Amino acid sequence: MRITVLAGGVGGAKFLLGLRDHLAERWPDGDGGTTAEVDVVVNTGDDMWLAGLKVCPDLDSIMYALGGANDTERGWGRADETERVSAELTAYGIGWPWFTLGDLDLATHIARSSLLRDGLTLTEVTARLAERWNLGVRLLPMSDQPVETHVEITVDGKRRIVHFEEWWVKYRATVPAQRFIQVGLDKAVANPLAVRSLERADVILFAPSNPVVSIGTILELRGMRQALDRAGAPIAGVSPIIGGSAVRGMADQCLTAIGVETTAAAVAKHYGARGRGGVLDAWLIDGIDEPSARVIEAAGIRTSVVPLWMTDATTSAQLASDALDAAFAVPRR
Ligand code: GDP
Ligand code: CA
Repeated sequence: MRITVLAGGVGGAKFLLGLRDHLAERWPDGDGGTTAEVDVVVNTGDDMWLAGLKVCPDLDSIMYALGGANDTERGWGRADETERVSAELTAYGIGWPWFTLGDLDLATHIARSSLLRDGLTLTEVTARLAERWNLGVRLLPMSDQPVETHVEITVDGKRRIVHFEEWWVKYRATVPAQRFIQVGLDKAVANPLAVRSLERADVILFAPSNPVVSIGTILELRGMRQALDRAGAPIAGVSPIIGGSAVRGMADQCLTAIGVETTAAAVAKHYGARGRGGVLDAWLIDGIDEPSARVIEAAGIRTSVVPLWMTDATTSAQLASDALDAAFAVPRR
């Protein structure tokens, strides 16, 4: 069984933890793992160079979570983290004082930057970093070329274009985004390994990740929609919106900026039905959104109503199971 998942950071990581647990039960390898092969195509639109180092927030969120090294209380970064180096950098006026890089986390960025400077691609670097952790999945950056999401905002009456993380972390998305700009998109192509993975997959899943700045950015890459279109596998997506709000995070501010309502149905219609110019065969919504199932079905997308809250390992694994079932229920193309 080959499964390819499109994912952003924290929402993606939670879903993947559930998927890994579920696969170990559904297709066990007799050794606690699974015979299923999972590739994860990860958003790199949040990446940046900071203090001379390449930082890849979504890749790292997933790597730390699947590696069992993430800070589950804070929701990001490494567990048992300290911030001594960061304090020194701030004293030198280097980096962003509002974007703290923990000491353990900094080691990841130093290792990554070092390998990049040796001439490895981001895909190769990601594989090297992952060797150390027992992830059970293969992480594939969406592209080997840098694509940075920038945001146009107005601060004190002045128009400014800032990095996505500045809008997200410094401004907590309280300043409305006027538009998103994908810097480097024109020169970037979808990671060839991701394209091959999509073409060979038995199932393709969209994690409940941010539909604008995580999944949306992945879909923008040259070659990505074509690969999804060509794929023989069914595509099922999990709604990141439950009852009209983004469970955690600020997906609603992102959706508002692109003129999409913050509802499970509007996000489904934004992705669109396969065969009608879109990318979805199936969409999973929460029970609270059941009344909108008919609207989604009318748009040509098979709709499953299941619990979408990933509150613990059990609910996350059940959601992964439901997503696979929804995909398998799609008639072959
Ligand atoms: P980021 O890159 O760290 O922002 O993470 P992602 O893009 O992967 O996912 C962020 C989104 O995950 C949030 O905006 C939420 O809408 C969604 N999310 C977080 N927790 C849950 C959950 O328990 N259930 C569902 N369905 N969505 C969730
Ligand atoms: Ca992200």
